[in-house]
Amino acid sequence: MNEAKAGQTAEQYIESLYPVDNMLETVKLGCAYNGLPDISVASGYGRLLTLLVTVSGAKRLLEIGALGGYSGICLARGLGEGGSLLSLEISPQCAATAKAHMRVAGLADKVVYRVGDAKDSLRELELEGARFDFVFIDADKGGYPFYLDMAVKLASPGALIVADNTMLHGRVADVGADSPSVRAMRAFNRAIAIHPALESAMLPAYDGLAIARVK
Ligand code: SAH
Ligand code: MG
Repeated sequence: MNEAKAGQTAEQYIESLYPVDNMLETVKLGCAYNGLPDISVASGYGRLLTLLVTVSGAKRLLEIGALGGYSGICLARGLGEGGSLLSLEISPQCAATAKAHMRVAGLADKVVYRVGDAKDSLRELELEGARFDFVFIDADKGGYPFYLDMAVKLASPGALIVADNTMLHGRVADVGADSPSVRAMRAFNRAIAIHPALESAMLPAYDGLAIARVK
């Protein structure tokens, strides 16, 4: 096997080291077949999600933004006996696709989808007194600052909060870029970095991932 190639990125090199994950490839094909965009979490971060759930021992997982179930499968794979994932998704079509993929992956009994705007679902969860050990934020980028506030409110002590796409393809760092999503993501990144209730780190690879622990 010769994984070294001219001109490939660090991410491409890393991908070449891992065997193909047939279940996750099926999810990507299923997303395309159902007309969903190709915006599932990067495979390298999917592996990291599984690892973080496993090492943290988190039992109650919350996902904001399901799409076709790619990240949901990665999260649920890290769960031990009795663990569960609640996934918030605005699109009934996405939730149905994700649910079907969870069934194929043999993880359907661990996952519940709540269809609707995550902002409403999060307020409901707060009223219900729900608590989570792990929150994965990956829905509309303009909502990230609100999702962070709610994740901190719904977090159990020691919980992890992880967010995808925090670099917005480099736009957050580009002085010439300006849009509601860019402004929201900059606010989110600043908040993660200095939040008194969090300790955190940020990974710049792929499209950026923030990882925070609730003190
Ligand atoms: N986490 C998925 C990718 C999510 S893409 C994965 O890696 O596999 C973003 C998803 O967020 C889309 O499915 C979109 O429908 C959903 N979304 C967008 N705005 C939302 C909102 N306000 N509430 C809930 N879901 C939302
Ligand atoms: Mg994403």
